[in-house]
Amino acid sequence: QIKEADRPAYVNGLIAARDLGFERLEQGANAIEASLAAVVQMENNPRAFNAGTGASPNRDGIVECDAAVMAGHDGSAGAVAAVTAAQNPVLLAEKVRRESPHVLLVGAGADALATDKIDNRKLLTERSRQALKRWREKKQGPVGSATVGAVALDANGNLAAATSTGGVLGKWPGRVGDSPLLGAGTYANRQIAVSCTGKGEAFIRAVSAKDLACRLRAGESLVEAAKAVLEQIIAFDGSGGLIAITAQGQVCVGFNTPNMAYAWKSAGHEAAAIGLEPEIICF
Ligand code: ASP
Repeated sequence: QIKEADRPAYVNGLIAARDLGFERLEQGANAIEASLAAVVQMENNPRAFNAGTGASPNRDGIVECDAAVMAGHDGSAGAVAAVTAAQNPVLLAEKVRRESPHVLLVGAGADALATDKIDNRKLLTERSRQALKRWREKKQGPVGSATVGAVALDANGNLAAATSTGGVLGKWPGRVGDSPLLGAGTYANRQIAVSCTGKGEAFIRAVSAKDLACRLRAGESLVEAAKAVLEQIIAFDGSGGLIAITAQGQVCVGFNTPNMAYAWKSAGHEAAAIGLEPEIICF
């Protein structure tokens, strides 16, 4: 649930990220560069989102971030999990994609590659401190919120997906969610790019992002495919949402959480909103 008072910050943050990514595309950037620019913008936003600065801390009050990036045209990908010292975890994921012989690095090994090292306490904002305090008082289970993701289609028809998150508030130290797991929370191929948010455990078990891609390949419409993927999340005792874009430029936003903030832009159309009822929108 995005609190009423927080909604303007979320929508404005999304518009800023979307416009930056789109501007990069107009300047000739590829889909990877555009999706990274949008995600970095959201990671750096201290007033909104559960990623980078302001990411949800674990139960010990430490911010452990997960992020991934994947290029659809060649399937190249990089991801990091449980990183504590990177200002922009998604750029660390990009470093893994571009510079390492690996796909996923975790913890200290990933942090060691960060060139944007930051004291973990600087990632904790007053908002996230308060959220952790309330969470401790209520003694509830880990709570998800406001993971950030971007999907992009560039002028050459290439797709990319990027996702970044602090995971779920109050998680056990070392817990890894769906976002850095390719096929679960992040996925791109030549047909579609997908980024998910919600209860990571359900998205991992359902291998949701890849399931969406497979359903599309099998001939389902984007709406049908998104509906089936989100139903599976409910079957696995979760809720959440996804954003996707196809090689034809079809955009999909779907969620079965109480609300989800989203924004998109194409040459002829743009939108930015906080959906207040579960829905699937394909445009
Ligand atoms: N999917 C994220 C995770 O489980 C959390 C979220 O999107 O709210 O790590």
